Amino acid sequence: VFSHVVRGPEDPILGVTVAYNKDPSPNKLNLGVGAYRTEEGKPLVLNVVRKAEQLLVNDRSRIKEYLPIVGLAEFNKLSAKLIFGADSPAIRENRITTVQCLSGTGSLRVGAEFLAKHYHQRTIYIPLPTWGNHTKVFNLAGLSVKSYRYYDPATRGLNFQGLLEDLGSAPSGAIVLLHACAHNPTGVDPTLDQWERIRQLMRSKGLLPFFDSAYQGFASGSLDADAQSVRMFVADGGECLAAQSYAKNMGLYGERVGALSIVCKTADVASRVESQLKLVIRPMYSNPPIHGASIVATILRDRNLYNEWTIELKAMADRIISMRHQLSDALRARSTPGDWSHIIKQIGMFTFTGLNSKQVAFMTKEYHIYMTSDGRISMAGLSSKTVPHLADAIHAAVSR
Ligand code: PMP
Repeated sequence: VFSHVVRGPEDPILGVTVAYNKDPSPNKLNLGVGAYRTEEGKPLVLNVVRKAEQLLVNDRSRIKEYLPIVGLAEFNKLSAKLIFGADSPAIRENRITTVQCLSGTGSLRVGAEFLAKHYHQRTIYIPLPTWGNHTKVFNLAGLSVKSYRYYDPATRGLNFQGLLEDLGSAPSGAIVLLHACAHNPTGVDPTLDQWERIRQLMRSKGLLPFFDSAYQGFASGSLDADAQSVRMFVADGGECLAAQSYAKNMGLYGERVGALSIVCKTADVASRVESQLKLVIRPMYSNPPIHGASIVATILRDRNLYNEWTIELKAMADRIISMRHQLSDALRARSTPGDWSHIIKQIGMFTFTGLNSKQVAFMTKEYHIYMTSDGRISMAGLSSKTVPHLADAIHAAVSR
């Protein structure tokens, strides 16, 4: 009965790792997936996460019963504080409902399913380009997906004018997906002044902001600074949604721990919205897993562990920034044709190199360097040892 099933394509991002794993070369380098690696090229479990796990193991009172549909209550409360700020009036006024979801992706999906069912405007605008999964998540949830101009290949920066024009001509009430910080794949973020202009425009047109926050703490190294965009939109008293992921900033990729918050006008609305989120979640996966959320709650509730986390997070962010400088220096040393200043200017895990798909294919074939075909490289996968190899490959690709 399944013989008619045709083979589906590999995921454009995760498929890079599949190809990488098949390559026998000892010099191969995977810069595809956005996962942090140490200077030695190894995945990293944060010390503070190990400590939290030890505390959890030692606590004999811990049980493995189901969590409620909305997840671990303390985790939800602490996650809201992390993104909206400890002194957020919206939290004090109980206007926010926060539910634990399956990392960033699951939070986006639950939010989108809720919007498709209960919001009057089913069109969502996503930046061009954006993380490859956005279109699929929103489409399958029943939203219609359109894009707004974001990146300008000529300047390798923000196309601010294009963004304002496109959001300015979006239908009133449309949903707008915004990367809270460290835009993936471009590494280009609006300045705070630009965020303020975006906020004014969106509020004047009644556009609904849906923040995707997958990199809080990774852009600047400061958790508060990286949440400024979100907090601006909450401070004006209006509604918004936010999807949080702890994959990158706590290195909890495979634990699938994240949260969806919906900021409402009143506590009464928030409580009704939460009752509907439960109806979205229950038939999808019943309730979320307990382990990752317990790690996060253990860290966020304790001053000392929290401080330790911020130090480790800053170290990851700083290593990535140092990779930017090393790669830029290596290209300068080779007199590689072109302006590569964007490597240092761009923010977060990725550099949007400007290399085209042919150049990427050349680098994979000749240098065994793997990345997405749009020329995005994960700076978190680089080390001092591998920078020269990458610089050689880029130099050869653009000199051909
Ligand atoms: N949004 C963006 C912009 C991302 O880059 C990612 C991870 N690559 C996610 C969401 C979701 O990641 P996860 O589901 O692993 O939290």
